Amino acid sequence: MSANRDSSQPIMRSSVAWVTLAFAVVLALVAVVRWHDNTWGAAVWLAAFVAILAIRMPHSIRNRQNVIVAARRDLNERVLLSAMFLTMMVLPLLEIGTGFLAWADYQLPDYLTAIGAALQLPALYMFWRAHADLGRNWSPGLEVRENHGLVNRGVYARVRHPMYAAIWLFVLTQPLLIHNWVAGVLVIPAFTAMWLLRVPREEALMRQTFGDAYDEYCRRTGRLWPKFGH
Ligand code: SAH
Repeated sequence: MSANRDSSQPIMRSSVAWVTLAFAVVLALVAVVRWHDNTWGAAVWLAAFVAILAIRMPHSIRNRQNVIVAARRDLNERVLLSAMFLTMMVLPLLEIGTGFLAWADYQLPDYLTAIGAALQLPALYMFWRAHADLGRNWSPGLEVRENHGLVNRGVYARVRHPMYAAIWLFVLTQPLLIHNWVAGVLVIPAFTAMWLLRVPREEALMRQTFGDAYDEYCRRTGRLWPKFGH
């Protein structure tokens, strides 16, 4: 089995995943203990967060077996991934668990929180479908694995970035659920930067890997919105 594995990277990634999980579980427990200090929007965010981890975890574990043949892990990519980790996970969990950012709270009418809550469902569905369709070709960073296949079916038939579309929905609704300028809103500039940097590089990597087949696939698909009539 070990012959199948990329040298040190998967081990490092797996320890990051387990530390993250342990951290999330501890903070979620703390959040439950101080429940009365949080809004119901925060409860919905926490439930969606647990669902996100549950969808992703089996793919993270399985894809540790992948042999990586090309990767783009430069400083920008690391900084942006860390910024996402901080603004999409650490700050909201810390805020819900401890209330240390209460000075940056704002208030919202309930109907906006309800809109944010309702949008978690299509976001989770899209997130789940994208993981299921990408299968072993999914990776959190920019990578190509041995035997990487171009996925152009399922939710990828008309949209090139359905997983990022789901993440956009999570990101844009986070301020509707977590009413805090730091723990709720900062994720929007973080993901905007991530999107702007990541997508052209990811598409360049796919073009380099799949050549004309990827160009043809791009002609039939939109980045976030489906392209019909092709
Ligand atoms: N941008 C896609 C995938 C995100 S996961 C989405 O939003 O759904 C990132 C990894 O997916 C990249 O490292 C790349 O190797 C892989 N990938 C992206 N599009 C792909 C495709 N159509 N087929 C196979 N792999 C793809």
